[in-house]
Amino acid sequence: MKIILSSNNTKKIKEIQEILGCEVLNYQAFLDKIDVLEEGASFRENAFLKAREVAKRLELQEDFLVIADDSGLCVEALGGMPSIFSARFASLQGGVDEIMKHSFKMDLFPCSDELNNLKLLQCLDELAIQSSHAKFVCVIAVVGMIGGEKIEESFDGELEGEVGHHPLDREAFGYDALFIPQGYNTTLNHLPNKNNFSHRFIAMNKFKQYLKNLS
Ligand code: IMP
Repeated sequence: MKIILSSNNTKKIKEIQEILGCEVLNYQAFLDKIDVLEEGASFRENAFLKAREVAKRLELQEDFLVIADDSGLCVEALGGMPSIFSARFASLQGGVDEIMKHSFKMDLFPCSDELNNLKLLQCLDELAIQSSHAKFVCVIAVVGMIGGEKIEESFDGELEGEVGHHPLDREAFGYDALFIPQGYNTTLNHLPNKNNFSHRFIAMNKFKQYLKNLS
């Protein structure tokens, strides 16, 4: 059975392939690049938008599963933001007040990890705090066809920790350079075993179990 990943984020793709350990093809092996409008109200809704869009366009005659990851950082001091807006955080106009009340324009666009990190640090500065409790959330949506039957499943994972001022790192994925997971004393970008305990690992492990039960 083919497992196809619906993602345009190279750092995310690398992590998912490493965690899954089996052959996962990115959707661009079959289709031109797609930019799915992430207009859902939750990680789960956005993950399904990405998985369904690719599944709809594939014309496969064999069993397949399309998987899509929607993920982000929820910061306690920001009322859970940037959440589903994590990749688009720096495009959000306004300060902490507007962000927490969700009173910002919705014409958001993806920004560089560096700009998103700086936006987060700016928010902490505005609140005059050095750090805040936070969690990474990952939802994996699975859409496909097995033995003529339509499949729609989702799996989630969370990683708790503390987000705050730490040196920025251009090589790091997303907010990794600002986040210290609970039980550790360094930021996620310096932890080579991230893929053994992360939110993505937890969600993917549930998916792996699901795959095992299928066979
Ligand atoms: P998505 O592509 O819409 O799911 O956005 C995911 C965004 O959340 C990324 O661009 C990062 O900013 C952030 N994010 C998700 N997972 C991680 C992670 O494992 N480390 C750091 N940042 C992450």
